[in-house]
Amino acid sequence: MDSYVSFSPRISAPLFTVATSSFLVLAYNQAFWERFLQAIGGVSLANLPLLAATFALLVLVFNACLSLVNFKPVIKPVVMVLLVMTSAAAFFMDQYGIQIDKAMVQNVVETDTREAGELLSVRMVSTIVFLGIVPALLVARLQLIYKGGPGRRILLNGGMVLGSLALAAAILMLFFKSYAPTFREHRELRFLLTPTNYIQAVNGFIKQKLARPTVVAPLGRDAARGVTWAGQQRRTVTVVVVGETARSMNFSLNGYPRVTNPRLAQRTDLINFNNVSSCGTATAVSLPCVFSSLGRENYSDGKAQSQEGLLDVLRHAGLDVMWIDNNSGCKGACARVGYEDISQPVAGDPLCNADECYDEKLLQSLPERIRNAKNDLVIVLHQKGSHGPAYWKRYPAAFGQFGPVCQTNDLEKCSREQIMAAYDNTILYTDYVLDKAIGILQQVGAEAKVDTALMYFSDHGESLGEKNMYLHGAPYIISPPEQRSVPLMLWMSGQYADRFKINRECVAARAGQPFSHDNVFHSVLGMLDISTAVYNPALDLFNACTHG
Ligand SMILES: [Zn+2]
Repeated sequence: MDSYVSFSPRISAPLFTVATSSFLVLAYNQAFWERFLQAIGGVSLANLPLLAATFALLVLVFNACLSLVNFKPVIKPVVMVLLVMTSAAAFFMDQYGIQIDKAMVQNVVETDTREAGELLSVRMVSTIVFLGIVPALLVARLQLIYKGGPGRRILLNGGMVLGSLALAAAILMLFFKSYAPTFREHRELRFLLTPTNYIQAVNGFIKQKLARPTVVAPLGRDAARGVTWAGQQRRTVTVVVVGETARSMNFSLNGYPRVTNPRLAQRTDLINFNNVSSCGTATAVSLPCVFSSLGRENYSDGKAQSQEGLLDVLRHAGLDVMWIDNNSGCKGACARVGYEDISQPVAGDPLCNADECYDEKLLQSLPERIRNAKNDLVIVLHQKGSHGPAYWKRYPAAFGQFGPVCQTNDLEKCSREQIMAAYDNTILYTDYVLDKAIGILQQVGAEAKVDTALMYFSDHGESLGEKNMYLHGAPYIISPPEQRSVPLMLWMSGQYADRFKINRECVAARAGQPFSHDNVFHSVLGMLDISTAVYNPALDLFNACTHG
C-alpha cells in the first residue's frame, strides 16, 4: 500500500528529542503532577509561573539526556523502548498508586508468573498499546534529519546538552525557594517522576545485587589508655553532642548580632572554635565522615561503611559507648555500640509535641547514666537541632524569642526575615540544651565524683536565602560557606582537664585557627589520652596542649 509506506514524516533530530521529552513529561506523569500540585497548594494564578517553570525544567533535563544519544542508529530504538516501558510504569503508578523505587523493582523481579498473570488486565494491555506501542510505531516511521557530518553532530548534541542543562540550572536557581522545601518534604516526588524513577530503581537494584556483603575492617585494635590513666580512681563521662543543621554564623558566640547564645556566653570556661568547616553538606555524608578516620579528602560512603570508626576505637580502648538519637539515626556511625532512639513522641510528655521530641529529652537519662556508669563512658547525643524547613517545630514556645516566624514548609510564603527568625530560635534553644547538658555534667559529675567533658559540633550548616539558596545539600565544591561552616565547642570540668593534663588556656589560644571535621576523630582520642597507631597528633586540637 503506497499511502501506508509514504507515511514517514520528516523532523529535525534536535526537534525530535525536544518533542519526545515534552511527550514524556506530559503523557506519563499524571501521578507526579497530581502530587506536585498537592505539594504546592493546587492550581492557582500565583502558581502558574512555578508550574510552567517545572514543566520547562523537566523537558530540559530529559532533553539533555536524550541529546547525549542523539545519533542515527541509537536514538530511535532508545526512544521506542523508553515509550513502551514508561507507559507500563505510568499504568502501575496510576492504577495502583505505587511509587517506583528499588524495593518495587525487587518485588517485580521476585513475582512469580501466576502473580504476574493476575496483574494482566484489559486496561493494562490497552494502556501499553495506546500509550506505548502506538507512539513507538509512530517513532519508527519518522525520518530524522541530521545535518552535517559526525563531527558537526557531536558538536550540535554537545551544544544541546550544555544549553539544556544551563537553562535548567537557571530555572532551578530562580525557583529554588519553592523547590527546596517541596522536594525535601515530598521525597516521593522523585519516585513518581517517570521514566527517571524506574531507570534509577533498576540501576539501584542491580548495584545492590552485585554488591558484596560489607565486611567491616577493624580499626585501632591496638587502642590503649595512655599514661594519664594510670592510678586514677575516678570514672570519666565524655559527652559528644552532634548538632543538626546549625551554622556557625548564627551563633552570637561567633559574632552574630542577635543574642542567640545568652547562656553559653556566661560560661567563661567554654572554648569556642569559630573557624570550623564540615565534611559534607548533608547528614548522610557528614555523620559517617566525622566519626571515621578517613577525613574529607579520602571519605566515601563505601569506605566508611566497611571500616570501623571512632566509636569502635574507643571501645577497643575499653570504654563504654552509647549513642542516643533524636534525629533519623546515626548513618552507620554507631553500628557496634549501644543505641537508644528517643525521637518518637510520647503522649503527655512535656518534652515532646505531637510529631517529635525536643532535644532537651536527650538529657533526660544523663544524670542517671553519670551516676550509674560502671565504666568510663562516652555518650553521643544526636540532636534534631535546626533541621528545616519546619524550624518553628524544633523548639518549645518559650524559645520563640525572635519573630514573627515562618510557620509553613512553603518557604515561598515567608520573608527571609521570618525564616531567619525561626532558625535563630532553634539556635537559642540549642544554646539552652547545651548549657543544661554542661550544668548536669558539672553538678552530677561533682556529686558522683565523675570527671566530665562535653564536645559539641554540628554536622553541616544551612542556607537561609543567601544567593537565593535555602536548606542544604549543595555539592561540596560549589557549596556556599553557610552550608559548610559549623560550630565546635568544648567544655571540660577542672578535674577532667587536670587528669588528662590538658592546658585549657593553650587550647583556647588555638580557638581561632581553621579546623574541620577531620580534627574530631583525632581530638577525641587525644583528649581521652588514647594511644593507637591510627591516631594522628597533627590533626588533634589538643596537640601540644596536653600531657604537661
Ligand atoms: Zn544534617
